[in-house]
Amino acid sequence: EARASIAMGDLLSRLGEVTRRGDPIGLLLLRLARYHTVVAGLGHRAADQLLAAAAARLAERVAAAELPQATLHRLEGETFAIAAPVGDRLALARFADALVREFAVPIAEGEQSVVLDLVTGYARTPDDAPTGDDLLQAAELALQAAQSSPAAIAGYSEELGRDRRAALALEQALRQALGTGQFEFFFQPQLDGAGKLVGAETLIRWRHPDRGLVSPADFIPVAETSGLIVPIGREVLTAACSQGRAWLEAGRPPLLIAVNVSARQCVQSGFVDEVAAVLGETGYPPHWLELEITESVAAQDAEATVALLAALKALGVRLAIDDFGTGFSSLSYLRRFPIDKLKVDQSFVRGLPDDGQSAAIARTVIALGRELSLTVIAEGVETEAQETWLVAHGCHELQGFRYSRPLPAGEFDRWRAALAGLSYAPAA
Ligand code: C2E
Ligand code: MG
Ligand code: MG
Repeated sequence: EARASIAMGDLLSRLGEVTRRGDPIGLLLLRLARYHTVVAGLGHRAADQLLAAAAARLAERVAAAELPQATLHRLEGETFAIAAPVGDRLALARFADALVREFAVPIAEGEQSVVLDLVTGYARTPDDAPTGDDLLQAAELALQAAQSSPAAIAGYSEELGRDRRAALALEQALRQALGTGQFEFFFQPQLDGAGKLVGAETLIRWRHPDRGLVSPADFIPVAETSGLIVPIGREVLTAACSQGRAWLEAGRPPLLIAVNVSARQCVQSGFVDEVAAVLGETGYPPHWLELEITESVAAQDAEATVALLAALKALGVRLAIDDFGTGFSSLSYLRRFPIDKLKVDQSFVRGLPDDGQSAAIARTVIALGRELSLTVIAEGVETEAQETWLVAHGCHELQGFRYSRPLPAGEFDRWRAALAGLSYAPAA
């Protein structure tokens, strides 16, 4: 017998009751994935009506389902739960699948007809969690996994729990690392086609007292989701500009210092002011600073990105698009972005010169960049054959292990001195 109830407490007491009896219970969490899009497009009134229609459809399905004694609960916002005394993973998965398919069909209410798209995560006692509270948490983890899965369905797994605990522990360690000097900043040379040093990319390193050296590929994503990227990004920017200033004061010829800026960091309000403040504090000339942003920034809101990039440009800094070719930026917007440089992603460089697909993409990116009067740099250049191919195809600049790994500032300076006394094999 299905009943749609409204309270969360209701669900918890049902879960508690069943688990106390020692019966198995399966819990499905359901979220209407497109609800916020619908609110934004049709307004709250129409969205509310559609939500009620969706709840009615769920209640109908629960009543008709082969899951005995299933109950439907409304949690916060556009999230629902179905609890049923079923310990069978396959039965839960099948029910979840039927619901997801059901919600791919438009819901009609008044004059509106919209697809609301359901995502669902499920878990069950006693295998996934011992108590009702833990079960809700396990199902929530599964729901989060479902939100980033193309199938829109995920069951809880021990791996999910382990990953989440590891990510939380990493987040805590990262928070404690702020301002303690655990972050180090390495610099990787960027050369032009004639082998002349033109720039350096700043790359962060995290030396944790117990964990050792943690790769940015591991902690930057955690820093992004936790928001810690904002203070960390400020440390990177400050370190890069201070180092750049120190090199200038030591009489080194100026070079472009590039700094990676993550999506979360630059859409934060006040980012432009922060860059201006760091430039002011360190006295580093803006035109020798380059900010590397990824295509994902542009993907969020292209109009807002145009405005953001224009404001950054107005400070006098240079802008590059990192990992170009891996995102899905709209070419028409690319034309409107006030950028200076495209970085050909290393995944395309890796296959050069023999892999036809990599070569086709690299050739296209280089041509596109040149057509738009941008500087094109290839990253991840490791071999002479790659270098020769890239320069022959019009790539302006090169970066990669072929020239140097990222180096601590002192070593970078020595590398640079050695380079000045060396002559480079001229590229084809
Ligand atoms: P990215 O910005 O695309 O940086 C290039 C990465 O490729 C660096 O890895 C670099 O060490 C590596 N690399 C350079 N040359 C070669 C090569 O010839 N072969 C190979 N296989 N790899 C090469 P790293 O330092 O581990 O950084 C990984 C990513 O982490 C960066 O990708 C960037 O997205 C992010 N990251 C690093 N430092 C920062 C930072 O300060 N702020 C932010 N927001 N992200 C950062
Ligand atoms: Mg980069
Ligand atoms: Mg890159």
